[in-house]
Formats: sequence, C-alpha cells, structure tokens
Amino acid sequence: MTKFNYLIIGNSAGAIGCIEGLRSVDKEGTLALISEEAYHTYSRALLPYYLSGIISLENIYYRPPDFYQKFNVTPLLGKKAVRINFKSKEVELANGEQVGYEKLLLATGASTLTPPLTGLDKKNIFGFLSLNNTLQIEKILDQVKNVVILGGGVIGLMAAEVLNLTAAEVLKKRGLNVWVVELAERILAPVIDETASKILEALFQENGIEILTKT
Ligand SMILES: Cc1cc2nc3c(=O)[nH]c(=O)nc-3n(C[C@H](O)[C@H](O)[C@H](O)COP(=O)(O)OP(=O)(O)OC[C@H]3O[C@@H](n4cnc5c(N)ncnc54)[C@H](O)[C@@H]3O)c2cc1C
Repeated sequence: MTKFNYLIIGNSAGAIGCIEGLRSVDKEGTLALISEEAYHTYSRALLPYYLSGIISLENIYYRPPDFYQKFNVTPLLGKKAVRINFKSKEVELANGEQVGYEKLLLATGASTLTPPLTGLDKKNIFGFLSLNNTLQIEKILDQVKNVVILGGGVIGLMAAEVLNLTAAEVLKKRGLNVWVVELAERILAPVIDETASKILEALFQENGIEILTKT
C-alpha cells in the first residue's frame, strides 16, 4: 500500500486551491489526489460554454497539462473513494486498492439533489454537474426535441451568467423545446428579489423558454 503525507479526495476548485497553498509551504511532502472522474482538473463553470459550442473541450481545463507534475502531485484519476478508515488512516478505492495518508482533505464538492420522483431511473435523465454529465447530454441532444429542466436555480438558469447564457438557453439554441420546472413561486428565489425574478422570467419566455413555477 502506498502512503502519502497528504491525500486529497477531489480534483476540482477545492483540491487545486489546497495543492497550490500546500506547495507554498511544503515543497517536499508526498501528495496525491483521488478523483472519481478520469479527467485533468477542469472548471465546472465552463461546462455550459462547452455545451453551447462557445469553447472547445481543451479550454475547460483551467490548469496546464503539466500541473500535477509541476506541483509534484500523484494523480489517482478515475478512481472512486468508497471508504475511509480513520483509525488506520487509509482510503479504500472502488477497485479494492488502499491508499494511506497522514493528512486527508475531503474536497468532494456537491452532488445533484435528486427529488423523490418516480421514473427518474428511465433513460435520458441527467444531472448537470460534471463533465461526464455534460458529455452524456451532448451525446443525445441530436436525438431529442423536448427538454425539461428540473430546478430554476443558479445552475439551471444562471450557470453562465457572464455571457447571459443559461443551460436552458444553451439547449434552446439547438432548436429544442425547453421547459424549466421550479417548485418555488419564482425562479432564483434564494438569490434575487421578486422584481428581478419577474424580469428574468419574462426574458426567458420572450426567448421561447417556458417557465413553470409552483410546479
Ligand atoms: C454547470 C455549473 C456551472 C457553475 N458556474 C459557476 C460560476 O459561474 N461561478 C461560480 O463561482 N461557481 C459556479 N459553479 C459552482 C462551482 O463549479 C463549484 O462551486 C466548484 O466546482 C466547487 O468546487 P469543489 O472543489 O468544492 O467541488 P467539485 O467541483 O464538486 O469537485 C468535487 C471533486 O471530488 C471528486 N469526488 C467526489 N466524490 C468522490 C469520490 N467518492 N471519490 C473520488 N473522487 C470524488 C469529483 O470527481 C470532483 O473532482 C458552477 C457549477 C456547475 C455544475
């Protein structure tokens, strides 16, 4: 079993920030990261831009290809951590491998909140959180006509605020019929006030995107 001074579970913003901070104070300690996805570190915020075709896949990676090498990190990519033994200081991977550590950081982020609805086990239902999700969505876009987005929150609507693009708009651009279903009385309720919600809802409707609130 390989043992590292520092072990990070995660390969995204939290993990990368930690690596850069750590290496500014300890250049020698052995350091590894474990990531469920097999990709070089990428920006989730850029996924809508990739899906819309604004940027290419190479542009979602926000650190150079030699990042791990330069920061003396052992990347254990495409490996899922399934158990932590805090007593023996070991992380068990899905393939049965054990990775030892002295200090461990959990930078595992968030996961898609799946509402308790029946039928969610059917095909063509995805989250929109990871590159894997994005590639799956991209793969079937040409075969579908109607898209329902569950959740009128930040990721569904404002994922790419800077360019005034949203996941819903991205899909609409491809000529699909798009509905946004939101449980609350208005979209983005925790983030903006009622007036702003109304302005945005009107904008979406103008662009042919149906917003169904209280639904
Ligand atoms: C579509 C989209 C658009 C966004 N747009 C913006 C934006 O414009 N501005 C903004 O500030 N934020 C935005 N965000 C949010 C931002 O991306 C997150 O806040 C940020 O990625 C959180 O980083 P993190 O490192 O904490 O976790 P995450 O990015 O969630 O990374 C978690 C990491 O842990 C790994 N992991 C999880 N579980 C395991 C396991 N069991 N074993 C191994 N590895 C595991 C994952 O593979 C991943 O590498 C957006 C998010 C999405 C999904």
